[in-house]
Amino acid sequence: MANDQNKFQAIISHAKEYGFVFPSSEIYDGLQAVYDYGQWGSELKKNIKDYWWDSMTRMYENIVGIDAAIFMHPTTWKASGHVDNFNDPMIDNKDSKKRYRVDHLIEGFAEEQREKGNEQLATSVLEQMDALLAKDDFAGLKKLIDDNRIKCAVSGTSDWTDIRQFNLMFSTEFGSTISSDDEDNKVYLRPETAQGIFVNFLNVQKTGRMKIPFGIAQIGKAFRNEIVARQFIFRMREFEQMEMQFFIQPGTQKKWYEYWKEERMKWHLSLGFGKEQYRFHDHIKLAHYADAACDIEFNFPIGFKELEGIHSRTDFDLKNHQEYSKKKQQYFDNDIDPATGKPYGNYIPYVVETSIGLDRMFLAVLSHCYEEQDLSTAEKQDSRTMLKFPPRLAPMKLAVLPLVKKDGLPEIARKIMDDCKSSFRCFYEEKDTIGKRYRRMDAIGTPFCVTADHQTKEDNTVTIRYRDTMLQERIHLDKVREIVMKAIQ
Ligand code: ATP
Repeated sequence: MANDQNKFQAIISHAKEYGFVFPSSEIYDGLQAVYDYGQWGSELKKNIKDYWWDSMTRMYENIVGIDAAIFMHPTTWKASGHVDNFNDPMIDNKDSKKRYRVDHLIEGFAEEQREKGNEQLATSVLEQMDALLAKDDFAGLKKLIDDNRIKCAVSGTSDWTDIRQFNLMFSTEFGSTISSDDEDNKVYLRPETAQGIFVNFLNVQKTGRMKIPFGIAQIGKAFRNEIVARQFIFRMREFEQMEMQFFIQPGTQKKWYEYWKEERMKWHLSLGFGKEQYRFHDHIKLAHYADAACDIEFNFPIGFKELEGIHSRTDFDLKNHQEYSKKKQQYFDNDIDPATGKPYGNYIPYVVETSIGLDRMFLAVLSHCYEEQDLSTAEKQDSRTMLKFPPRLAPMKLAVLPLVKKDGLPEIARKIMDDCKSSFRCFYEEKDTIGKRYRRMDAIGTPFCVTADHQTKEDNTVTIRYRDTMLQERIHLDKVREIVMKAIQ
């Protein structure tokens, strides 16, 4: 654990030093749990987004994408249940005044016990917690915290307040256009992108002439006033989600839930990080909208944690939007319902959702690909830090490097740049020794470097250097573009 914590810290430092992730408004000492993506981070993030978007909207012919606004009519969040139910049980330490999410406090305690070798106690506390959370038994949870003398990390004491619910939505005001009543002017910053899909269900179904089953995908910002927010980009107050709502016939939800569990796991495995890095975690306590739910957990440096959620949301959302908006949210289906032997007719579709955090996916990719290598030999000490990104996700695909800044080599390198830069992201650099330039490219995860040297002038060959193996070979410069294109497809 201590080692993994060190690794996590090293990744956070590397992300900052090499332009991936900066604390937000850092010159003012940052803003808690808000981060900015730098020059290479934003490229990596965009590549992850494209990988998800293309797989959803191209590989499945019955899925289309939308881009809904962050602000929505306030009634949306009444109908969705977020105004009344989007709460987390919280507890404050009376001495430090620090507020904790109850489940995180107890999980932290269990983790500590596990490290001390008290596996049995850790498991038992977690089991009790799950059972109490499932019943919203706050008195029981408080007793669990008291009985185990769980301490605050800041004050070191176990003097706790009672447990209270805390709504996670941010709100702001919307001028005076909605109504003159102050409460009604309140608009929320969406805590999930899904509702933008639900309220557009009929727009998309009708204008796209979509037939059930079909899906609507969306990538966009979401905001949650998270309490425990100290795990870098794992838990942020402003983050991005990639969600897909799949609309289905009532009664088929079990089949589609299993289908999407499998499809989403395949998508993750396609990145080649290894099966052992992922596991399913079934929810015991279901969210207010779900009849089945699980997470795909990833082996982050902070342990196995949720990366993506797959939820069977029943007809909860569309039914409530129908009730609150008084607009029918129905679909007419000619298919025969096997249960009755008659056409389905009109119904409110059921929904299976896949919901992945873009920033968490970024962290999964970054932390898995981060590697410190000892390259020391008997003669000299040496090491390198590299990000072994899959080429299709790498922010930069190719570095083009003239060996020296003269003798016509920069001109040759520029020609290679011109040949490649409209096809993929390339980086040109002539400063410093070639060895230093290679290492800088390793540190931002560039899979290929090509170097033009004096021999290039004679036979039009360049040296290509592969990031992972550091092997170098000579190839004709006409081949550079093709080799990179093949690797990133
Ligand atoms: P958690 O239990 O970690 O708070 P959740 O179960 O509330 O997450 P969902 O509402 O299912 O999360 O959201 C779907 C996905 O959105 C999550 O799997 C996660 O990847 C991402 N996500 C949720 N909250 C955050 C956050 N505060 N920061 C970054 N990503 C988040």
